[in-house]
Amino acid sequence: MFNKHSLTDWLGRLLGLTETESSTEHTRAVNTLRATYGLRLVETDPKGNARAWRSSELSLLHDTLRLLGPTFYSPFVDNPIHLWIDRNPGGGSYGDHWLRIGEPGGDESILYRILLHEGTHASNEYRGWPYENEFCTCPGLDWRKEGDTWTHPRQQGRPPEPGDWETLPVDARDVSVAPGEDLAEMVRYFVHSVRDERAWLWPLDQSKPPLYLWDTSPTRFVFVRDHFLQLPESHPWYRRLSPEVEARAAANLARRSRSQP
Ligand SMILES: [Zn+2]
Repeated sequence: MFNKHSLTDWLGRLLGLTETESSTEHTRAVNTLRATYGLRLVETDPKGNARAWRSSELSLLHDTLRLLGPTFYSPFVDNPIHLWIDRNPGGGSYGDHWLRIGEPGGDESILYRILLHEGTHASNEYRGWPYENEFCTCPGLDWRKEGDTWTHPRQQGRPPEPGDWETLPVDARDVSVAPGEDLAEMVRYFVHSVRDERAWLWPLDQSKPPLYLWDTSPTRFVFVRDHFLQLPESHPWYRRLSPEVEARAAANLARRSRSQP
């Protein structure tokens, strides 16, 4: 049995051991994210704005990147993204290999959604902007450049143009002011729809299954699946539309421009 002194001693050793084990686990997770996915986690900074990552957040990063797949993350491995959580809440941003996520508090879905959006900007940039340079002017994606300005039949802040073009059945957030924003939201919609995360597809019609987005915009669905993420048919996110619609989307995407950056 324990006397008071040895019990204290034993508890101290136990707690010390637990701390060592959890910090070893943390270090291992951080190293894996760096080596496998090219994410360099920043957990402190001179101003004290960056905070340490929680173990559940490390798992979320690992699981999400693994599912997004090597086409998405492998460009980061040789030139890692600095990824940090800002103690100041609000939004996220990506630029110059730094990805900031405002403090998500207890709601990890915020972290998840920002990671999908900003991570898509990063992957697109690391790969030399394939969406802008090869795909976005295809029929079904429907961007065109007038001088230096990108335009789309459904542009934020303007009434949609009439005509034969595909669109997402949502209002203001489907197409932004630039192809890059369109792509970031497109990937986010793709992931949320194939995962049946209908609550995050605002302002989706909640009475319908999330995949109904792709009935109105099949070219986007096929673009993300086959070109931006290049998912194999065995992937849990892989979905197919009807053969006729698949053929139409594939024909649209075959008309990629391959213009030089
Ligand atoms: Zn953005």
